[in-house]
Amino acid sequence: MIIQLDKKISEKEREQIKLMVKDIGYKTTRVKTQIGEYLIGIGKREFDIRQVGSLPGISDIHRVSDDYKLVSRKWKVNRTVIDLGDGVLIGNGTLTIMAGPCSIETEKQIEESIKHLVENNVRIMRGGVFKPRSSPYAFRGLGSEGLKLWAMMARSAGIKIISEVMQVSQIAEMYDEVDVFQVGARNTQNFNLLDELGRIDKPVMIKRGISGTLEELLSSAEYVFSGGNEKLILCERGIRTYEKASRNTMDVNAIPILKEKTHLPVIADPSHGIGLREFVEPIALASIMAGADGIIYETHQSPERAYSDAQQTLDFMESERLINRSRKVFDVRESF
Ligand code: PEP
Ligand code: MN
Repeated sequence: MIIQLDKKISEKEREQIKLMVKDIGYKTTRVKTQIGEYLIGIGKREFDIRQVGSLPGISDIHRVSDDYKLVSRKWKVNRTVIDLGDGVLIGNGTLTIMAGPCSIETEKQIEESIKHLVENNVRIMRGGVFKPRSSPYAFRGLGSEGLKLWAMMARSAGIKIISEVMQVSQIAEMYDEVDVFQVGARNTQNFNLLDELGRIDKPVMIKRGISGTLEELLSSAEYVFSGGNEKLILCERGIRTYEKASRNTMDVNAIPILKEKTHLPVIADPSHGIGLREFVEPIALASIMAGADGIIYETHQSPERAYSDAQQTLDFMESERLINRSRKVFDVRESF
């Protein structure tokens, strides 16, 4: 059960509600976010919801039996919109495009990427400065020095940035520079990291785990929300299956299912989803058709020289074509 508390609730009223919930055999957890205050009741016993709902200090009450509650659409039908400032919104019924290299590499690369995005009116740039690499000998990112330079250049061009945070200590290190923290597929169930991201007020995009179910993804989002941060975005990035013809298997099914289960925006990552440059575009377009709020993909001025994920990175011509086609497909979808 989710009890939304009134903004003007008194301490006495809060205690009275907790007592009543305890009386019916439910355990309560108090959740305070940037936007509201909730009491989450956990229990199995049947009860008459009016028993609690009629108490003073409650603005609304909902029965949600899933393990994830606050991210569920069962209580919040209105979609969550993430506001990055300067008119950049995610989940507001427009198509969000986030593009950029897998890794931030050099000043020249940042400059050329920003120029490409500005020319195509793309407002969010992706890029890793802390890279989770399968091999310890692969390029592991420029770290916070790279991030500072990137953020400075992006800001002066009016571009927002999304970058992966791999561990708790990096949150503070990255805080001033990033506009969206990305939780990578290898960290979807790093619960310490999720707890800490619940304590900040910046948006977080959580990628689906490499072998993660949708329920696990939603539960990871619940960690951040119940920790106090409602500014959440989910990302489908492909899962590991027995198929070897592609790097991952993009689970296009996940998009409409997530859109039905949660009020959070859903972004598709076709680059990691299929892992093959020549097929990034069709998978991106299919994801948009399936209902994604946006796409995130990898692009580089000379992909063959990219330090990481070269095989799935688009050059700027391919990227421009993808942007144009994505916008067209999105308009078709919205015209239905
Ligand atoms: C990335 O976005 O560069 C990345 C490492 O993605 P994922 O966590 O989905 O593998
Ligand atoms: Mn990558």
